[in-house]
Amino acid sequence: MDVRRVVRSWYAVAALLGVLGAGTLFGLAVLRRQAEYRVRGSAIETASVVAALTVHRNVSEIDFGAAGGLTSTEVADLDADVAALIKDRRLVGLEVWRSDGFLVYADRGHPAGETTLPADQLVRVNASVPWFAAHATDRGLATAEVFLPYDAGTDGVVDGLVEVLIPDADINQELASTSRTLYVLAGSLVAVSALGLLRLRRRLVRREFEATHDRLTGLTNWGGFRDAVRAAIDSHAVTRDRPGAVLLVDLDGFKSVNDTLGHPAGDALLCQVGRQIQLSVRPQDLVARLGGDEFAILLTGLADPASATAIATQMSDRLRAASFLVQGIGLGIEASIGVLVVPAQGTELDVVLSRVDVAMYRAKRTGASVAIYDEALDHHDVRDLSLLGELRRAIDNDELTLHYQPKANARDHRITGVESLVRWQHPTRGLLAPDEFIPLAESTGLLGPLTQWVLARAIADAALWERGGMPLAVAVNVSPRSLLTGDLTTTIIDLLATHGLSSRLLEIEVTETAIMTDPDGASRVLRQLRAVGIRISIDDFGSGYTSLAYLKTLPVDTLKIDRIFITDLVADDRGIAVTQSIIDLGHRLGLTVLAEGVETTQTWNQLAALGCDEIQGYLLAHPMPAEHIEGWITTYEHARTDLPAQHPQTTTTRT
Ligand code: C2E
Ligand code: CA
Ligand code: CA
Repeated sequence: MDVRRVVRSWYAVAALLGVLGAGTLFGLAVLRRQAEYRVRGSAIETASVVAALTVHRNVSEIDFGAAGGLTSTEVADLDADVAALIKDRRLVGLEVWRSDGFLVYADRGHPAGETTLPADQLVRVNASVPWFAAHATDRGLATAEVFLPYDAGTDGVVDGLVEVLIPDADINQELASTSRTLYVLAGSLVAVSALGLLRLRRRLVRREFEATHDRLTGLTNWGGFRDAVRAAIDSHAVTRDRPGAVLLVDLDGFKSVNDTLGHPAGDALLCQVGRQIQLSVRPQDLVARLGGDEFAILLTGLADPASATAIATQMSDRLRAASFLVQGIGLGIEASIGVLVVPAQGTELDVVLSRVDVAMYRAKRTGASVAIYDEALDHHDVRDLSLLGELRRAIDNDELTLHYQPKANARDHRITGVESLVRWQHPTRGLLAPDEFIPLAESTGLLGPLTQWVLARAIADAALWERGGMPLAVAVNVSPRSLLTGDLTTTIIDLLATHGLSSRLLEIEVTETAIMTDPDGASRVLRQLRAVGIRISIDDFGSGYTSLAYLKTLPVDTLKIDRIFITDLVADDRGIAVTQSIIDLGHRLGLTVLAEGVETTQTWNQLAALGCDEIQGYLLAHPMPAEHIEGWITTYEHARTDLPAQHPQTTTTRT
């Protein structure tokens, strides 16, 4: 999880709430002020009414004269009016001033005289505007003090000032209730916004998480991983002194889990593998799932480059040792891990990612569980990598083609069948041999489609020859993986049915390795194939380690002696001995024995003398395109029957 981002957005939330709070407080202050103004306005209005009911009725222009003052009658009347209002609690006190500060009247019976008003209030007399002076406490009552300029006559000249003290209770109440309403409003506003913001933030954080994380495993995804690597490089979190590394982990044989147990099982396995990987790194390391069965790890703060390999090796060991329980079955899994040290082996994001891919691919191809990126080997690997990208397209676009190599009976030279050998007619690289792309397909998910393509093509060609009146047994090479994963038997039976080929015209060649990786599994599949009439050959026999014990029980028809024993057979006594033993062994087990790689007549003769049953090799024919086969066989059979005496057996004698 990218903690910094989350924290940053927490800051953002706090800052937003702060701004919102401050804004609300400001708004509140403005509103309170407005309420206060309203209150003051209404106080002035009340005071004006009070003044009209008291002063205006009793005080005239002359009372403001220099020698003025109220008559006692006027004072009494005014006292009476004032007292009535006070009694009604509409008034607290009232005084009348002359413009020069002379006290003309005071309700509390102050003697009229030279009492000075505060200068600031006196100054405003002439402004002829009423004003609210203050909230005050007078005679134990909360009051509002209002000054009203007073024009006692009609000349428009202000004569003095009426000071009215009115009860402030209502005013206070109004203010208090206004404030309460405002506080409640502001409070809910802040609360609602805070809630909304928090929810928004939660959604943002979740969305950001989803955008940068893999749904299945919860690990960082491809995009998130790229960002993290870029950030580590840009922020100099990885340096030559404290290097980092990128590991690319690809599971071996994951596809077969998906194929045989189904996708939910594959998903469950991926989750467990993700956890296991997480357990084999340090807390500060970032584990990501890039998609499929590919994981990547960003290591930072390493003591030295060797630590990266150490961590990768440990990870590989842990994965191999672990048993993953999926649908009640304990599964083992192996991984190929590519290692690239940063910044020593790359400082640009794309370079880093493509190089670690190269390293991983090398690990996969060489069968080493861990491979560190090696610049010297890069060129070759990159070529392979781009080939791999093209291979899928090649399968779809029919860029692949099958060549066929005939096999003959060693004694009478009759053609016994042909072996299909795949080629890739690459648009720019020319005709590629199977060794150049089959290992590639084997290390990826492309083997299945490739095998399917070859089988379909070979069966279609054989059906065509059979219909054309030239029934030819066609042998198809099947990789160990194809034999052991998926449902090969069903695939083949379906194809035979589709093309209307009889099963006795199909032969499957498997290598010893296929059998020895999983003898029971291989044996089961071979038995199924044989049960429907398909013939089985063990290819490259003698080059591997087929246990003789297995050979006895295996459902096999033919042993194909590996050409390393055959090519130089004539000059090689040991080779002759081995070949002789294989032939004898095969015969004792009731098998047909074929020798491949026969390039000379002497070899052919030698093999025939040793009792070998069939022959294949450049001497007889090179592999050729399907459309040449019929013509070639016709010509060959003519030549053969024209030369009945040319039996190698008759030219070589051996006892
Ligand atoms: P393989 O099954 O042992 O096939 C025989 C290989 O020996 C072929 O090479 C063939 O061209 C070559 N060869 C035939 N006669 C002679 C000879 O007299 N001298 C020498 N030096 N070589 C000879 P190719 O076609 O390059 O195939 C190489 C390998 O690729 C095959 O070995 C087979 O294991 C694999 N392969 C070919 N086609 C397929 C396929 O469709 N599927 C799978 N899984 N593997 C295939
Ligand atoms: Ca073969
Ligand atoms: Ca072979």
